[in-house]
Amino acid sequence: MENILIKFIKQKKKCQHKNALLHSNSGYCPDCGKFLVKNYYIVRCACCDIKREAKLSWGEIVPVEKFCSNCGSKEFYIEKLDSVSLVDAQYAIYLKEIADELKYLHPEAQIWVEEDEEKIRQIPLKN
Ligand SMILES: [Zn+2]
Ligand SMILES: [Zn+2]
Repeated sequence: MENILIKFIKQKKKCQHKNALLHSNSGYCPDCGKFLVKNYYIVRCACCDIKREAKLSWGEIVPVEKFCSNCGSKEFYIEKLDSVSLVDAQYAIYLKEIADELKYLHPEAQIWVEEDEEKIRQIPLKN
């Protein structure tokens, strides 16, 4: 019984692709078999647009410092880079993402809008 439970949990756990893309920018993960691409992102201040140092926290890209050192703003946005220049290299963070599940290209806001539309349709016409 215990063994089955452990197996179930392991299957549910998302693959971190630790052994994938060690020497390339795209390819298959040896652990889960998904086709992965390396994508580079930088974090910019939403207020003054300056590049901010970024880190990965629980799989999310966040700025290292809480507030922008240039303008003091807390807001930031994430920009996807097509290629990394030497200037960007010190700020860029890369994620190994499954080719058809690029999460930063599909903002969650889009999903929320669809859910709202669904709710509107479900409202009965009769009062
Ligand atoms: Zn994997
Ligand atoms: Zn700023």
